[in-house]
Amino acid sequence: MPIQLHEPPIQSILDSVKGESKITLHVKREDKIHPLISGNKWRKLKYNLEEAKKLNHHTLLTFGGAYSNHIHALAAAARGFGFKSIGVIRGEEHLPLNPTLNDAKAFGMSFHYMDRATYREKHSESVLAKLKEQFGEFYLIPEGGTNELAIKGASEIITPIVNDYDYYCCPCGTGGTAAGVISGLKGLGKVLGFSVLKGDFHKKEISYWLTKTNKQNLNNWEVITDYHFGGYAKYDLELIDFINKFKKETQIPLDPVYTGKMMFGIYGLIEKGYFPTGSRVLAIHTGGLQGINGFNERFGILLT
Ligand SMILES: *Cc1c(COP(=O)(O)O)cnc(C)c1O
Repeated sequence: MPIQLHEPPIQSILDSVKGESKITLHVKREDKIHPLISGNKWRKLKYNLEEAKKLNHHTLLTFGGAYSNHIHALAAAARGFGFKSIGVIRGEEHLPLNPTLNDAKAFGMSFHYMDRATYREKHSESVLAKLKEQFGEFYLIPEGGTNELAIKGASEIITPIVNDYDYYCCPCGTGGTAAGVISGLKGLGKVLGFSVLKGDFHKKEISYWLTKTNKQNLNNWEVITDYHFGGYAKYDLELIDFINKFKKETQIPLDPVYTGKMMFGIYGLIEKGYFPTGSRVLAIHTGGLQGINGFNERFGILLT
């Protein structure tokens, strides 16, 4: 499969110049980079794939939950770039496979199911040694795909044409994407990371990755913790209504785990008067749309 990647378009949602609103809001459609390897997961994989090739690896191994965007993207990327892929999946096998794993399998990924206790220790020497015994040599990409090369890749979300906004918004899972965006901006504007998990560990995580990549001097960022909706993959009907309405009005689909919460949060902040009048805000659509099918299958057809 030849891989064709697209330059993400920028779409205007609100326009303060035309007097339609107090702020200008644009969306960078990273979800359009590739139909299968979309959004921030492509950014995070890019240099890891190069590194794996350089080191002469033939197999990529990673970890994830059964609905993981990272598992899905890695399986598609592995196929496109000629690697074998192994997905170590948290918990037991459930048949028939859900839409995420069904796709990943079709892309050629093999699965190894890991009980939750072992999974918690997944990055430990002993668990990795066992996986090597079982599968032979592999290039390891951590859960969620965040490592130093991922942050280098995510920094490329910021290009010269998108470096003149006042605010840059992205969802935070591991915080790797936010760290990349902060790096790419080199101090310009302000980055808002919308936490999609409960707790306030993202500040620490982002600082950790900035330090690791020698960017600890950059402090033009903030983590917004008010829009997690109870935790990872938790939701309520207000969020669902918002996502459906947003799609109807803008033709932009959002996923319920990441981009939906970020966009809900951006509108929440607008309402609260967080952004000064005339601010230019860029929302980064990090992708994740593959998750919608699995979400609807689990919870009923909530998302149109
Ligand atoms: C994985 C993911 C994120 C989170 O990215 P991190 O780098 O882990 O913070 C955000 N949005 C989407 C759509 C994702 O799939």
